[in-house]
Amino acid sequence: MPLTAIPREDVSSLVDRLNFAQKVDRALGLIQDAWEEFGEGLVVANSLGKDSCAVWHLAQRVSPQIRGFIVTTRYKPAATKTFMKEMLARYPQLRVFSNDEPIPEGLYATDPERCCDLLKVQPTRRAIEEMGVRCWVTGLRCTEGRTRTDFQEVEERDPGLIKLNPILIWHEREVWQYLALHQVPVNPLYALGYRSLGCEPCTQIATGPDERAGRWIGTSKCGGECGIHTRPLKVETLQRGAPRELEVQVT
Ligand code: SF4
Repeated sequence: MPLTAIPREDVSSLVDRLNFAQKVDRALGLIQDAWEEFGEGLVVANSLGKDSCAVWHLAQRVSPQIRGFIVTTRYKPAATKTFMKEMLARYPQLRVFSNDEPIPEGLYATDPERCCDLLKVQPTRRAIEEMGVRCWVTGLRCTEGRTRTDFQEVEERDPGLIKLNPILIWHEREVWQYLALHQVPVNPLYALGYRSLGCEPCTQIATGPDERAGRWIGTSKCGGECGIHTRPLKVETLQRGAPRELEVQVT
């Protein structure tokens, strides 16, 4: 079935209604459908976090030909950079994008929105354009925190660019369950207690129920988003004058 024809449903009810095995089958089915529909235009965004590692593994089970991209920044922790090199050595179908142009020093502290826009959103746009992406796959999950509750498994925020969130309804423990069962290597920072990984100056170890509480602590972005899930990603969308921040689509 074409992805866009999948009926929208209240996915929040599925979070506790489906068991782990059903969720894995559902995720594999979504990626399989997308692979059949988009072929090479299907590309996985790999942030090198645990959720991305699970999604990347699922995608590789569907087809080892599925490509991916990593957006990295000058501020990624050393452990993440090392982990990225290991992933690249293992998966030549992954490409890396970054913005290495000079930016004001300490921009992450004075204007984190701008910093994320320059270092994360802009390279993501470039990846989507250069790789000819028609459907991008993410590791976004609706149980991660307050900013992630209103997404759908299949979305079209930018006209002509489908976004697939195949593990949207997975709990955090189910991600770890999947990674453990398949012995998928993860970033060693998780062993130190991090639950959500980002750039070094903007990521701390946090406790409490919100998985993303350790992100951008002390700023207005605390527990928030870098922008790749909320801003226009297609260059044409920007050129048409779309709002800088897209409204979260609730259907
Ligand atoms: S997470 Fe922090 S350092 Fe990284 S791009 Fe965003 S504001 Fe800049």
